[in-house]
Amino acid sequence: MHVVYQPQIELSSGICVGAEALLRWGRKNGKLVSPEIFIPLAEQTGSIIKIGEWVLEQACKQLRDWLDIGWRDFRLAVNLSTIQLLHEGLADTLARLIETYRIPPGILELEVTETSLMQDINAAGAQLLALRKLGVSIAIDDFGTGHSSLAYLKRLPLDKIKIDRSFVQDVLKSENDVAIVRTIIQLSHSLNLRVLAEGVETTDVEQLLVQLGCNEGQGYLYSRPINAESLLDKYGSFSD
Ligand code: C2E
Ligand code: CA
Ligand code: CA
Repeated sequence: MHVVYQPQIELSSGICVGAEALLRWGRKNGKLVSPEIFIPLAEQTGSIIKIGEWVLEQACKQLRDWLDIGWRDFRLAVNLSTIQLLHEGLADTLARLIETYRIPPGILELEVTETSLMQDINAAGAQLLALRKLGVSIAIDDFGTGHSSLAYLKRLPLDKIKIDRSFVQDVLKSENDVAIVRTIIQLSHSLNLRVLAEGVETTDVEQLLVQLGCNEGQGYLYSRPINAESLLDKYGSFSD
């Protein structure tokens, strides 16, 4: 297994302000198995807890390396599966990693899907509060595909909303999708949250997102997920 990184771009400046860590599983025959296949399997077998901890540790190690060479003002996001989110050891694991790798906690962002939050909103909400106490950032992933109530959104300790790519990709073709994207952006801003559009593939879509006031974009227009060295080469920025 290895981790690749996809940049997240601030739309107003074009600067890479973060990245998402994405897990890859390469078979001996050289073929990659999609995480959409092996993550659900790992959830069924329970191995997701170990795998998830491994991804978190890789992310913290990588952040430490980048911090050491002076790449700051940068946030690294890691996906949490439903089982991980509801696992009681999560906050302790994170606290240990943050300490071991001396990570300023706010630059570590945890991505939780709207659907997994809604599976057990009381337990998930309590866990997010425990994570927030550690100082890490929290993003809602695949937003728009679940059924979260506005009352919960207001109460949860969130920093960012990620608009699901299904709405972003058809935004130029569908008036309904424009309306949905516009509404999610306005909702995010009225809750004082940053908003990122996933699956940005063309400059036309990017321009519309800028017009609608979206803060960040992520997608093939900027880069596919790439290894850590390539991300640093292409996007690393250093201030004194
Ligand atoms: P996700 O969290 O929504 O991640 C974004 C997915 O969209 C990634 O697929 C990424 O490669 C893809 N993507 C990015 N930009 C574009 C674009 O412009 N167009 C299109 N068509 N796709 C784009 P990937 O890496 O195959 O991951 C699939 C899913 O697997 C992720 O969806 C996430 O739910 C899960 N996943 C990946 N890594 C992890 C992990 O470490 N832990 C957990 N729990 N889940 C993971
Ligand atoms: Ca994600
Ligand atoms: Ca997503």
